[in-house]
Amino acid sequence: MTSISAFAPACSAHDVVRVYGHGDAEVRALDGISVEFERGRFSAIMGPSGSGKSTLMHALAGLDGVDAGRVVLHGGAGIGTEIEISTASDAVLTGLRRDRIGFVFQAFNLLPVLTACDNILLPMRLAGTRPAPQWFDEVVGRLGLTDRLDHLPHEMSGGQQQRVAVARALLPQPDVIFADEPTGNLDSQAGAEVLALLRSSVRETGQTVVMVTHDAVAASYSDRVVLLADGRLAGEIADPTADSVLDAMRGLGAVGAVAR
Ligand code: ADP
Repeated sequence: MTSISAFAPACSAHDVVRVYGHGDAEVRALDGISVEFERGRFSAIMGPSGSGKSTLMHALAGLDGVDAGRVVLHGGAGIGTEIEISTASDAVLTGLRRDRIGFVFQAFNLLPVLTACDNILLPMRLAGTRPAPQWFDEVVGRLGLTDRLDHLPHEMSGGQQQRVAVARALLPQPDVIFADEPTGNLDSQAGAEVLALLRSSVRETGQTVVMVTHDAVAASYSDRVVLLADGRLAGEIADPTADSVLDAMRGLGAVGAVAR
């Protein structure tokens, strides 16, 4: 019998190279990196500015291609089949981003003319599906949005808008949610709420989250921090604290590393 351990990979990169520019202007944003992100865990990607964090996340999410190596979205019980993202067609990638990958962006990316409820439901409506009412109520309740469902984005605070974006990502129960600096536009109180909600969705529902951040406090909410430098893996921290992350970042020469 094949069993899937709690730490089976959700997605992985194998010897991935991504080069921008040519000749003297060439930048190896990813320089032969291999890394796995586990299912049912909250992982953070950290590293100095320009170390390749965004490029790695975009490659893992199928938002951008790679020049060499393989990027894999793994399959398993209760989820879809294994797919090699790095060679998938645009049609397959579009389907994956609709059905199996969720996103939370720094800038919330809500549609201004839609209520919170309609924003949350939009991806599933576009996919021609709808959530079980009980699951919808659970997600909305967990995120503290029950009383805000008929509000437009401009009627909500930044923290509330980001909670709508998190609900939108959680509702279809994607294989992986990629969060790109999800607290970058929030004050520390609202940021802490959003991080705690991501944390609890991993712990309580087994959601997989991969987050890019430059904030040591944000990274401390994760189970594991993957450190990048110059497009390569530069280390990792299990059960990180803000202090252990700051120490590691200073060790990488990220002089401006701060905990806010
Ligand atoms: P990080 O997210 O860690 O700040 P990035 O992945 O954004 O790093 O960038 C890694 C390197 O690749 C940087 O040197 C950056 O300048 C370069 N880079 C990223 N995107 C592009 C692009 N579209 N064109 C040219 N260079 C790029």
